[in-house]
Amino acid sequence: MGATMKAMRLHRPGEPLRLEELPVPEPGPGEVLLEVRACAVCRTDLHIVDGEFTGGKLPIVPGHEIVGRVAGRGPGAALFAPGERVGVPWLASACGRCRYCREGRENLCAEARFTGFHRDGGFAQYAVADERFCYAIPDAYGDEEAAPLLCAGFIGYRALRMAGDAPRLGLYGFGAAGHIVAQIAIHQGREVFAFTRPGDAAAQAFAMRLGCAWAGDSTGPAPQPLDAALVFAPVGALVPEALGAVAPGGRVVCAGIHMSDIPSFPYARLKGERSVRSVANLTRRDGDELLEVAPRAGVRPATRRYRLADANAALADLRRGAIEGAAVLVP
Ligand SMILES: [Zn+2]
Ligand SMILES: [Zn+2]
Repeated sequence: MGATMKAMRLHRPGEPLRLEELPVPEPGPGEVLLEVRACAVCRTDLHIVDGEFTGGKLPIVPGHEIVGRVAGRGPGAALFAPGERVGVPWLASACGRCRYCREGRENLCAEARFTGFHRDGGFAQYAVADERFCYAIPDAYGDEEAAPLLCAGFIGYRALRMAGDAPRLGLYGFGAAGHIVAQIAIHQGREVFAFTRPGDAAAQAFAMRLGCAWAGDSTGPAPQPLDAALVFAPVGALVPEALGAVAPGGRVVCAGIHMSDIPSFPYARLKGERSVRSVANLTRRDGDELLEVAPRAGVRPATRRYRLADANAALADLRRGAIEGAAVLVP
């Protein structure tokens, strides 16, 4: 009999995760076994649990913002030393051969596999990962604080890059990604405008505390024309709103893995060379850059800690928009 671990596992979308006793996974060739120290809860986990984002493995242990210590190495794994602190992101692997992979755009690889979706993730005491897609965690961050950097930070940073120079930046949705991106953008000297759920005074106050120039309701007008807007909330209706808020030439970047349908809107909203684009997953370059930029910019992720067994409560709080910053499971 091998060792066992506790894990929170999804058997069917729409059902709560179940606390289970599973075998500790064995690292395969090129893989590391991590003792999980913290795993943040992402909106994509919620989409998977709620059945809005399908096609992965079932049953599945969700969680793709893992901070762990190397507890074992599979054959040939040599990038990280035993005991080293390692981060595991959403992109678990890519083919390495296709056009996208060869161009450093592995986020678009048709054979890309994702942590906590195609392979078991970090809502557990142990997890295995392909070491080529893992990151060393900067010393500036504790385990719990580092976890949200691994998706909210990475994909948020990719979205920020897509916004270009954009001195006046709107953020639609001020959760885990929004509050990290805001700190980087402010450090870069941009003016940040935070749009939250209508009437969410707590999120608006949080945005102002972090140094945003303005915070208000996502359904209302912007106080001045924006150069770009990043839409983190998975709400398609915000796309025409954001287009209405950007100046001619402005960009609207949809940064979520999943979004509800975008309602039709008059062409006048897009006119003037405004554009809309999406962001898919992350490349390893996004992760490397974010982990270099975040400590320099003094990014401090706000977290709320939950026990592993309370993963369902964390998901419920995220669904209600009741978390300031990011929910993090600590086994
Ligand atoms: Zn995520
Ligand atoms: Zn590929």
